[in-house]
Amino acid sequence: MIVETIPVGMLMCNCVILGDEATRQAIVIDPGDEVERIGTLLDKHGLSVRAIVATHGHIDHVGGIARLKELTGAPAMLHEADLPMYESIALQAQWLGVPAPPTTTIDRHLSDAVSLQFGSQKLEVHHTPGHSPGSISLILPHDVPLVFAGDTLFAGSIGRTDLWGGSMDQILHSIRDTLFRLPDASIVLPGHGPRTTIGVERATNPFLLEK
Ligand SMILES: [Zn+2]
Ligand SMILES: [Zn+2]
Repeated sequence: MIVETIPVGMLMCNCVILGDEATRQAIVIDPGDEVERIGTLLDKHGLSVRAIVATHGHIDHVGGIARLKELTGAPAMLHEADLPMYESIALQAQWLGVPAPPTTTIDRHLSDAVSLQFGSQKLEVHHTPGHSPGSISLILPHDVPLVFAGDTLFAGSIGRTDLWGGSMDQILHSIRDTLFRLPDASIVLPGHGPRTTIGVERATNPFLLEK
């Protein structure tokens, strides 16, 4: 398995390239920006992209989707509940004071319990709302599962819930009922910052300790 994490853009969103070594098929998660760098890494590994997946509709995670789709021809995927957010990317750009990136058609609306195949690998989609209504987490169910948590769970923190459509109740529920069902050894690659494990977050994350 090829796993490349590249922090992209002003907000340093962790874009992840997942590649199946045997077939060279790949999935790109959260291409927020810097599509040239992503393209260079895809070329370096000789990967062909089967799906471009965003964990949610915030600009730092979706800003490069249109350019990457143009470069690779792969379909773009997002949970339906975050489509309005993607469609208002110009407004998000204005809030951040950056130029609006180009947008594209979202080819597939992801929902809970869907799996995305690349080579012999399957990436599971889990709806984990709270940071945004359409936030998803992606899980590679290996012996040691790999979790791509978007802005739902961070090392020592959780995603903010004061943005459009956010909910503290929902995000805590999503983490407890979906992510914390995974074994302690599961490796979490959050949408920003360093990686962590489910066990460490279960034991020490201040937002999730039972009061
Ligand atoms: Zn976000
Ligand atoms: Zn983010």
